[in-house]
Amino acid sequence: MKIAVVGETRPGERRVALVPGLVSRLIEVGLQVAVEPGAGAAAGITDDDYRDAGAEVDAGALAGAGVALSVQPLAARQVRDLAPNAVTISFLPVAQELELVRALRDAGHTALAMELVPRISRAQSMDALSSQAFVAGYRAVLVAAERLPRFFPLSMTASGTIPPARVLVLGAGVAGLQAIATARRLGAVVRAYDVRAASAEEVRSLGAEFVELELPTLEGAGGYAREMTEERSRMQRELLAPHVADADVLITTAAVPGRAAPMLVTSDMVAAMRPGSVVVDLAAESGGNVEGAKPGEEVTIGEVSVWGGQNVPSQLAAQASQLYATNVVNLLLLMHSDGTVTPDFDDEIVAGACVTHAGEVRHAPTRELLG
Ligand code: NAD
Repeated sequence: MKIAVVGETRPGERRVALVPGLVSRLIEVGLQVAVEPGAGAAAGITDDDYRDAGAEVDAGALAGAGVALSVQPLAARQVRDLAPNAVTISFLPVAQELELVRALRDAGHTALAMELVPRISRAQSMDALSSQAFVAGYRAVLVAAERLPRFFPLSMTASGTIPPARVLVLGAGVAGLQAIATARRLGAVVRAYDVRAASAEEVRSLGAEFVELELPTLEGAGGYAREMTEERSRMQRELLAPHVADADVLITTAAVPGRAAPMLVTSDMVAAMRPGSVVVDLAAESGGNVEGAKPGEEVTIGEVSVWGGQNVPSQLAAQASQLYATNVVNLLLLMHSDGTVTPDFDDEIVAGACVTHAGEVRHAPTRELLG
């Protein structure tokens, strides 16, 4: 069976869904790998790197492929090139891709969405949300450090002492924890806040201080945060204001699955930060944690620079691709037997990640969206 690796065409996407180092894992089990020319170029991978790893490089890679691997969803025209009953593996934000979902359903393909892989222990090596959030959390700190006109670490020199930067991280999930760890490695004094009580211990274990707010905790099913009421959100902003004003760097990563990101910081709160302070909003694309932050742009509020994240993992394309490809290959190998890929819907990972199969939309929320 041919596994096609798609050259990404969406603006700003630099990642690739398979890296040469993982080609052998597919070949070993009897699969063939065909890569579109230039697919890895933006991630620093040449066509020869893929050839040396045992893949074929072919402009017609998708034609007759049994599996298509990509980071972003396929274009509708690419769906038509695949073999009948093919499997597609990519990120697939269904609400924004209803036309593609219809095309995948009508073609009878099995579409698996990486963001729907259940977050259970057995699926950790397939958890692309976590792997990409890890990259984004690291990058957020470097963006802030580069813009901040101050040192991060405490420095004692013969010419005097430089105090450490103060970093506040809001949202201490995968991205937030990586931001905390990175800022600590650079020597900053770090504080962090999350609505999930369980995150306090993780924050402290990284050498940061957990900010306690006098608010009821909001833990929902599966350890995820639930959406807050407007009144609680207002209280939260009020209680956070002095912490924000005290920070040189604010990094926000708060998200609630399936909803717009909560607005945690108003533009007045940003304007009250010291001149030259820096805000990085990793949630800018999904509604924004910071009022006025714009995805892919850097704006100034008061005398504070506000950087809005847009496809941040793609900005470290080589390693984001390496991690994503590992997630994808692990999912693919879960469905592999005797040189072919056959999804087993008794497996909760496959069933959970499946959007379309055999002419049907399997993912109930997507079915509702399609009406
Ligand atoms: P996410 O990207 O959905 O959210 C990021 C963080 O924002 C979360 O920690 C959330 O609690 C926080 N948040 C939401 N609303 C907030 C608010 N109003 N104020 C402050 N913070 C707010 O989450 P994520 O990083 O993908 O994962 C969150 C948690 O899920 C992880 O820390 C972990 O406990 C769990 N998880 C489990 C697995 C697994 O078991 N395989 C995998 C990944 C994550």
